[in-house]
Amino acid sequence: MSDEICSICSLPKDICRCQELAKSEQRIKVHIEKRKWGRIVTLVSGIDSREISLSELVTKLKNQLACGGSAKDGIILLMGDHRHNIRRVFEKLGFPSDNIDIS
Ligand SMILES: [Zn+2]
Repeated sequence: MSDEICSICSLPKDICRCQELAKSEQRIKVHIEKRKWGRIVTLVSGIDSREISLSELVTKLKNQLACGGSAKDGIILLMGDHRHNIRRVFEKLGFPSDNIDIS
């Protein structure tokens, strides 16, 4: 049992819908970049870190995609090219597919 109260809506966190609402409002942009020594990284931007915990999200993404990664300055960096799988993973985590822009 949890008696934590949401700071946004003042409802107990068990029944609060703020996280789901926040997820549906994010406009997620995904692109890849080539780094030093030809390493490919997948960068995820557009997620409001005041609404979504990026450190929690990056942990879930790393588990789902079985890769390394980190979150810094509002941008999630994942090792490797995950363009083919990341949309499915975001959907699984509750982010609407329509809001995910992969380039
Ligand atoms: Zn709430």
